[in-house]
Amino acid sequence: MLAWPATRLVTIRRVLIAMAIGSLVDIGIVWNLATWVDPPSQMRSVYSRVRADEWINHWHSDIAVGRGRTRVHSEVEFTSKPEDWKWYAPKSHGTPPPRWAAKEVESFVRESLVAGRSGVRAQWIDDAIGWPMRSWQMRTGIPKPVRGTVSPLLVARTDTGITILVGAIKDRRMPVTPIWPGAVMNWVLYAFVAFVFQCLVLAVVERRRVRQGFCRYCRYDLSGIDADVCPECGKPLSPKV
Ligand SMILES: [Zn+2]
Repeated sequence: MLAWPATRLVTIRRVLIAMAIGSLVDIGIVWNLATWVDPPSQMRSVYSRVRADEWINHWHSDIAVGRGRTRVHSEVEFTSKPEDWKWYAPKSHGTPPPRWAAKEVESFVRESLVAGRSGVRAQWIDDAIGWPMRSWQMRTGIPKPVRGTVSPLLVARTDTGITILVGAIKDRRMPVTPIWPGAVMNWVLYAFVAFVFQCLVLAVVERRRVRQGFCRYCRYDLSGIDADVCPECGKPLSPKV
């Protein structure tokens, strides 16, 4: 049986502790997945843009879903003049990209065009990590494309996330950017589990205190005391078991 907390203050404190635990668990799982679980390798094509625009000659993305991670590998070839830049979402080419991709791709394309490079072919990888929802993301530029050239500066400004360089986990990249809907859902889920677990553990502890004649909240010795509230912490006393 769950013993629900008897006072509002106790409830609030337990909820706050559960929320803190929940956020730590989400970050812990994400960083663990990013460090120890290999990225998915089976890519499948989700959309490609081969129609020549004013400024994009080719745009192709592959997606792979693995344990706790979704990886999108994108390649764009720019062809045109900076003054012609516009934004076109690749709506008509199969599955649309994940919602977190479009905004980032737009800024990437803009930067490329501002850099004024014609015929540049750029590749980058977007990782969304988390379980059960994808909750943190990062982008990794690929500095050496198959064909064409990419400005090293462009790649550096594209990268998000940080690289861990410690012992066996050398070269692993860690996401530091939240994907808010997923992050909030994971947080609520883990916080709920932590709250229930906390109540279960405290129910056992408090039941034992009551049985031994102590206040269930502060463990004050209640022998010889006949009152409705604890003289030490002021919280309501439950009848002895
Ligand atoms: Zn007390």
